[in-house]
Amino acid sequence: MNPVIGDLHVHTVASGHAYSTVLENATVALEKGLTVLGVADHGPSMPGGPPAIYFEARGHFPRQIEEVRVFFGAEVDIIDENGNLDLPPHVLKKLDYAIVSFHPQVYSGGSREENTRILLQALSNPLVDIVAHAGNPRYPLDYRVVVREAVAQGKIFEINNSSFAVSRKGSSDNCRAIAQEILHCGGELVVSSDAHFCHEIGEYKHALDLLSSIHFPCERILNVHENRLLQFLEYRKERKRSLSPSPVF
Ligand SMILES: [Zn+2]
Ligand SMILES: [Zn+2]
Repeated sequence: MNPVIGDLHVHTVASGHAYSTVLENATVALEKGLTVLGVADHGPSMPGGPPAIYFEARGHFPRQIEEVRVFFGAEVDIIDENGNLDLPPHVLKKLDYAIVSFHPQVYSGGSREENTRILLQALSNPLVDIVAHAGNPRYPLDYRVVVREAVAQGKIFEINNSSFAVSRKGSSDNCRAIAQEILHCGGELVVSSDAHFCHEIGEYKHALDLLSSIHFPCERILNVHENRLLQFLEYRKERKRSLSPSPVF
């Protein structure tokens, strides 16, 4: 039985290159026994991605579909060498959580030192919560530095199952290094499907195999424990709401 009860990195048709709706995603999540579903579509800078209004008009977004709690996040892109993101603070503030990542369609990145500095800059944004697919070999990073900073700030890295199965070939050793660093400094992580079609939701075999190969304790995988996962999401959500109306960063 899959021990993971939630998936925080799931795309819908709104992303422009994904093929399921929120309802289809929730239906599959339910079938697979997940109780928490996080929809995190790409931001406006991704070709075919939704405009900011998609995220702002969140009042219509379903919060519960049958037994599945549904959260509304975004996978925002780093768009430049200053770690700026493709959604403005007033929109990010309204979301339940924000995942940050690099994609070659948006920003090509630089040297290991530059990427590390840029990701640290993005992490310093209080509206950022999770770092996605950081093991991508196209964006070399100093894992020790970025993981330690994320852990110090209560933010988490994901181990992205799609990086082993579908995209970002060559991520495996880097993902292992990230997980080992998290292990050493006492942090937690999430496993994510990065589903672009509903049937991929809740599929974590490659990510879990990697974690078990380094004896990463199950207790420190956030989305194995419903209470811990909900606590993390509620804390991050409340924190955003409590920030000043015009945060400076
Ligand atoms: Zn995508
Ligand atoms: Zn991505």
